[in-house]
Amino acid sequence: MKKEGVTRESAKRQVGEGWHGLIDEFYNMFPDAYMTQVKEKFGGLRLYHSGGSDESTKKEIEIMERSEKMCELCGKPTETRDIRGWLWTLCDDHAKLQEDKK
Ligand SMILES: [Zn+2]
Repeated sequence: MKKEGVTRESAKRQVGEGWHGLIDEFYNMFPDAYMTQVKEKFGGLRLYHSGGSDESTKKEIEIMERSEKMCELCGKPTETRDIRGWLWTLCDDHAKLQEDKK
């Protein structure tokens, strides 16, 4: 039986909806990659996997860079910002909500 790693559905549960399209893009391009971990780190989307190729590694980095310019919650163009010592990639509206959270 093929090992599955992190499924697309559970990958999407790790991050906000704004990045779901990026997750789909990677999973569609590399259906055979064994996904070890999908998460947000330093305000960017990380798609850790094994059994990939130079191509999938390049795509992983490209998607990380693109996620750092897209609101994690709604996908609007923005940039990574520091909110009380944590890096978030959120648009102005969502950053404000995050700032207001206690
Ligand atoms: Zn937003």
